[in-house]
This record gives sequence, C-alpha cells and structure tokens, in this order.
Amino acid sequence: MAGKLESKNVLVTGSRRGIGKGIALEAAREGANVAVNDLTGADELETLVKEIRGMGRRAVAVLADVSRGDEVNRMVETVERDLGPIDVLVNNAGVESIIPFLEIDEKEWERVTHTNLKGEWLCAQAVARRMVAAKRPGAFVNIGSVQAGMVLPGRTHYAPSKRAIEALTANLAAELAPHNIRVNCIHPGLIDTDMTAWVMKDPQILPIVLDKIALHRAGQPVEIAKAVVFLASDDASYITGQYLYVDGGFRIL
Ligand code: NDP
Repeated sequence: MAGKLESKNVLVTGSRRGIGKGIALEAAREGANVAVNDLTGADELETLVKEIRGMGRRAVAVLADVSRGDEVNRMVETVERDLGPIDVLVNNAGVESIIPFLEIDEKEWERVTHTNLKGEWLCAQAVARRMVAAKRPGAFVNIGSVQAGMVLPGRTHYAPSKRAIEALTANLAAELAPHNIRVNCIHPGLIDTDMTAWVMKDPQILPIVLDKIALHRAGQPVEIAKAVVFLASDDASYITGQYLYVDGGFRIL
C-alpha cells in the first residue's frame, strides 16, 4: 500500500534528534524522501540519512542555521539539487530557555525569537518562492508549542515566539492558498526529548506537570510526527491556516 507521503520530498528542520528526528523517520515510513537539517551534529545527521536510505528512500543532510537567510537559501538549494523540488516543509527547529524577564538580555531574546519565529518565516519564504515559480503545490507544517496558550515563569521570550507562529501560519495560509500551498501549525505539549529532559528527570516537577495533562503522560516524538504527516498529506487537502494542539489535553489556565 502506498504511504501517505509516497514519493514526496520533505524537508524537516532541526531534525538530528527529538521531535524533528521523529518526523523525519515517520515521513520516510510513509514513503517520503527526506532532507534533514540541523545547526550542529553532522555525524548524527549522517546516521539518520543512512537509516532513511535503509528504508528505501532518498535522503540528504544539510547543516544550516535556520535563523540566517543566506544559510536557509543554501540549504534549500542543496536539498532541491539532491532530492528535487520540495513538496513538504516542516518548520521544526526551535530553542527554549527559561530566564526571568528582569534578567533576560537582548542576545538571548534574539537567539530564541530568531530561531523559533524568523527561522520559520525564512524557510517558508525560501521554499514557497520555488514552489510558486515552478507552479507546484505544497504543504507546510509549522511547529509551535502548547506554550503559545500558556503563561509559565521565565518564558517572556519563548512564549511570544511560539504564539506568533499562529499568526504566521494564518497569514502564510492566506497568501499562499492561491498557489495551492497549504500551511498549518501543530502545538506539541510535553514531549519526551532533550528539550524537556530536565522536567522528565525531576521527581518533584514531573508529577505536577503530569497532573495538568488529561492523559497523564508525556508524548513521544512519533505522536507529533503522525499528526504532521496527516497535515502534510492529501488526507488534509481541505485544511489550511489551522493550528492543532497535540498535547494529551494539557491546560493550565
Ligand atoms: P530538541 O532541543 O531536542 O531539538 C531541537 C533541534 O533543533 C536541535 O537538534 C537543535 O540543534 C535544532 N536547532 C536549534 N536551533 C537551530 C537553528 N538555528 N538551525 C537549525 N537547527 C536548529 O527539541 P525538541 O525536539 O523537543 O523540539 C522540536 C520543536 O518542538 C521545537 O520547535 C520546540 O520548540 C517544539 N516543542 C517541543 C516541545 C517538547 O516538549 N519537547 C513542546 C512544545 C514545542 P542543536 O542541538 O544543534 O542546536
């Protein structure tokens, strides 16, 4: 049986580990050729490329900083040269830090907002320009965060960067719909990755967080990946401009 992304070319940013890696592997399981990207970790990316090729798909790895336009353009050019035109962009790369508002400095504000928000904007523009020029349809999935709708201590930089992804998604969806490019957003809840290791390992904090989650557990990267594949696939052909919480029912307010 054909996979949900059979023969599609999929670019997943920030995919050497965590949720991005889960998305890259699930896309390959669903028949896609996959381009993986990260800021660092060439060895891990190459191992992932080998795993994807072992599944019978084509794969390429590109080290690039999604917050820099020149690097994003180079990444997209490399992917299209090696795999062919990109059909699906998953804007996953992101960084979080927890710093009280009165202590945060401009450099950290820029690192977080430029990676999480500007990076999604830059990647979307670089890919969309090529799709539009080639008159090819496409699908983008932007990874936000459950924190888009929450207030947690020390997130005056991270939370706005994620909330803004809803506005970015809606505006991109409107501008790109005439070009048959759909744009949606997924807000993950607590997912078991390096980013959340400090929560998962803290016997005091973990039960408090789990008490806020209806399903009373952390999610796994593959559970985000399956939702990404759905939104990227033709099964979601009439869905655009939406955001979906994949969070096990996580609400604190
Ligand atoms: P991880 O920290 O495990 O992985 C994030 C990856 O993004 C890292 O490999 C990191 O690379 C990469 N990255 C960071 N900055 C850049 C950059 N400028 N250019 C390219 N790649 C970059 O995080 P998760 O897998 O947990 O998170 C993935 C996404 O999901 C993020 O956007 C995050 O905000 C979001 N999210 C995660 C949640 C969770 O519970 N885990 C909850 C809600 C949202 P490097 O290590 O080289 O810096």
